[in-house]
Amino acid sequence: MLARVAVALVAIVLAAAPAHACADRIGVSRIVPIGEIRPFAPGRQVHEQIRLGPKEVVLTLDDGPDPDVTERVLAVLAKHCVKATFFQIGRRMATRPDLVRRVRAEGHTIGTHSWSHFLNDWLPYFLAFWDIQRPVRYLHELTGERPIIFRHPRGRRTPDLDRIVDELGLVYLANDVVTGDWDDAPPEQSFRRFLTGIGAKGRGVIGMHDNRANTPALLDMVLGWLTENGFKIVHLQADAPPSFAPPSLGARKPLEGAIREAAADGPREADAP
Ligand SMILES: [Zn+2]
Repeated sequence: MLARVAVALVAIVLAAAPAHACADRIGVSRIVPIGEIRPFAPGRQVHEQIRLGPKEVVLTLDDGPDPDVTERVLAVLAKHCVKATFFQIGRRMATRPDLVRRVRAEGHTIGTHSWSHFLNDWLPYFLAFWDIQRPVRYLHELTGERPIIFRHPRGRRTPDLDRIVDELGLVYLANDVVTGDWDDAPPEQSFRRFLTGIGAKGRGVIGMHDNRANTPALLDMVLGWLTENGFKIVHLQADAPPSFAPPSLGARKPLEGAIREAAADGPREADAP
């Protein structure tokens, strides 16, 4: 008799609990495994390939990891049950490898954003190559995973930078909708900028920064608005599958060879903006 009462009580408690913590959240509607849709044409960015439908968006966060902001951003993402792509700066990863691991452990994708975040289009070829390659090596050593997605610092591209990205087996992802959160404006002001951008395009890659104090509040507002307005989150899963065989990190052609080839080929035609 006592056992039956206990079972009934457990059943009542379970019935009262929400079926799933994410049931009423925006969540993730579609996963795109980036590694499986290769080959990319050299210099092509990812969202020319993933073909976002109306009201489909990809969330991206640049310039972390940050000791004060990244964990707050992760909490907002978890609240809305969404996954994002973090374009992290190599030298910042090296100061907080625990945050890099945590972002990955929570199911988000890590892309690289150069080691220094310097203006690579101003650097000599070999230095730009080093600056883009080093965080790829670092992440591989830290997590055992080889990153395949990259974002140019400040979105600045040249044919030489396209060539480096291609040689390293990376693809790049630019922003469609920016919020201006990098200037530390109040979240309401950045949110208005977001509304203008998303209103004009109706879909796209949204860019924010997980090293800015106002971004967690802004991200919460953005995700609330996307939920209310029937948008869908697309998650870019950037794990390289076994079938994906870029030049291995250990067997990459010597740097001098790459420089010689680049000099012989001359500049390539850049993509249309
Ligand atoms: Zn950046």
